[in-house]
Amino acid sequence: MTDCIFCKLAAGDIPTSVVYEDEQVFAFKDNEPKAPVHILMIPRKHFASLAEATAEDEALLGHIQLVAQKLAVEFGIDQSGYRVLTNCGPDSGQGVFHIHYHLLGGENLGDICGF
Ligand code: 5GP
Ligand code: ZN
Repeated sequence: MTDCIFCKLAAGDIPTSVVYEDEQVFAFKDNEPKAPVHILMIPRKHFASLAEATAEDEALLGHIQLVAQKLAVEFGIDQSGYRVLTNCGPDSGQGVFHIHYHLLGGENLGDICGF
């Protein structure tokens, strides 16, 4: 989708701090980090949120979780712990409507499930 900021980042049209990429998934540092480690993982395929995922996306969404696991090791938070989350829809505070998963860690994240 041409007017989507995350599509533009994944396409390399706008420079960003890339930490992982493959044919399906693109991961980069959040530009307003809420924790010492704050990475965003997106599918290259554009859809707005988890609400729009279909059975066709099952392997893709599973793959993103394993990318999170790999990045947690790479960024040294696999032992201390981390959180993976996706915001979906108005009550979640979702601000970018290309599905993305946050990987957060590097400090105690508290007892709420988001940020
Ligand atoms: P949401 O609230 O939609 O789950 O999270 C969107 C996240 O994307 C926010 O944490 C925000 O800081 C991040 N973000 C928004 N625009 C950009 C951008 O252009 N580059 C990067 N690296 N992060 C972005
Ligand atoms: Zn997009």
